[in-house]
Amino acid sequence: MNAVNASGWRPSMGEAGQAGVPATSSGDYGLMLEEPLSFELGADGKCGVDIEDADRAPMGGLSKFLRKQMPDLPGLTEPETVRHYTRLSRQNYAIDLGPFPLGSCTMKHNPRLNEKMARLPGFADVHPLQPVSTVPGALEVINELAFWLIDLTGMHGVAMSPKAGAHGELCGLLCIRAALDARGEERHIILVPESAHGTNPATAAFAGFTVRSIPATPEGRVDLEALKASLGPDVAGVMITNPNTCGLFEPDMKAISDAVHEAGGYVYCDGANFNAIVGKVRPGDLGIDAMHINLHKTFSTPHGGGGPGSGPVVLSEALAPFGPLPFTARTADGVVHLVEEENASEFDHTQSFGRMVAFHGQMGMFTRALTYILSHGADGLRQVAEDAVLNANYVLRMCEDVLPAPFAKSGPCMHEALFSEAGLAEGFSTLDIAKGLIDEGFHPMTVYFPLVVKGAMLVEPTETESKAGLDRFIASLRSLAERAKAGDESLHSAPHFAPRRRLDETQAARKPVLVWQG
Ligand SMILES: *Cc1c(COP(=O)(O)O)cnc(C)c1O
Repeated sequence: MNAVNASGWRPSMGEAGQAGVPATSSGDYGLMLEEPLSFELGADGKCGVDIEDADRAPMGGLSKFLRKQMPDLPGLTEPETVRHYTRLSRQNYAIDLGPFPLGSCTMKHNPRLNEKMARLPGFADVHPLQPVSTVPGALEVINELAFWLIDLTGMHGVAMSPKAGAHGELCGLLCIRAALDARGEERHIILVPESAHGTNPATAAFAGFTVRSIPATPEGRVDLEALKASLGPDVAGVMITNPNTCGLFEPDMKAISDAVHEAGGYVYCDGANFNAIVGKVRPGDLGIDAMHINLHKTFSTPHGGGGPGSGPVVLSEALAPFGPLPFTARTADGVVHLVEEENASEFDHTQSFGRMVAFHGQMGMFTRALTYILSHGADGLRQVAEDAVLNANYVLRMCEDVLPAPFAKSGPCMHEALFSEAGLAEGFSTLDIAKGLIDEGFHPMTVYFPLVVKGAMLVEPTETESKAGLDRFIASLRSLAERAKAGDESLHSAPHFAPRRRLDETQAARKPVLVWQG
């Protein structure tokens, strides 16, 4: 039933197990257990909970809602259910198992201290509809984190409620729209560099702007002259990622901001790569008007399958009056207040564009991020950036002789190393290297992004990998590059040792099979 499953349900470890060893009769191999779908495991009439028969249960006036048919759920006992999901989880890869070198995603270790703090009942059990007077501690956490984010970025204010980086982009652009409305101007173009993350143009289009692309220089940076030439009375602003997605700092950032401001526009910075510059550079000093911070990247809160994102947006003095409600504010008496529609005028915040979410944002992530910040301190955060950049440069310099690094001549990279597939044997590509890494026990790096490099491989080791760990990764990457250069055909069918072989991911994304048909 699964169109993308090239190898059937048998683990490929078994297929590769060969050398005269017969296949197992169970279909399991060693302690790696094969797992059917829950529907295939389940049987009619089995149930994990003790539910009273419907005709004996007191129905009150609800009997007219009684189901005519059984729901289409797999019949599993509790131990079968627990084992099913635990077995599946063993086929997953996680940051707690090994490096996750996804460039731009900043998959760093999630410190256990963060988890401990977030689970304290006073934080974990608060409800967003509790009276404000009963949650001063939660407001204090939000306000303290807001203070740090403003301080680290040198900005004027922060909107804490956006729930991810892309949501933060939307928040920033809605602030820009509100500011333009207040000026009575109808600017509709947002300039976005070619190397931008896909969310940037998508957000601009979603917010009702027209996207115009700006080219990159051969050195992988924004082409300042081309940008200046695109500015005009129609331009609402730019969205620039800094450090950019080629892993490079944009040294012209201040000049870009000045030019955009002079032309009457605003500067949005995609701050997903803040990990490389936290404690080193303050975006506010570069003339930025709005920037999202991915707490799940720079500030170590879990992401991917592990937790929701959180994307607070720091704002300049020009945009802060338009930021969303609610937010927290400390008054002169030291009390942290919640500013909402009812009391916005007392806090001089009547120009807000409105709300992005029902409540305050990702409270659990605020607690984790603040724990991370306080446990590192200002000096520790600076070291985070330094070590992240050092680790990326180590990978870059240790691999550039076997994998071309298109921008490495421009100098050191920031927190991620970018390679290209140029120079691999005919017919070999980035995909072969990425799939080969799975056999080597590593999650692949980001591939085919940024689009400005053909067959891009973007490796972000983060500061949390040790030198020994980096050396193991580098040895694997080098060995795969050498095999792909030598035309080793076996790479085309990698991974060979994973529970599943090479899948048709495009087909799976375009035509997902989401319904089980038994
Ligand atoms: C991760 C990322 C985003 C989007 O952030 P989400 O939290 O995933 O929505 C945007 N831009 C860049 C450069 C990123 O790396």
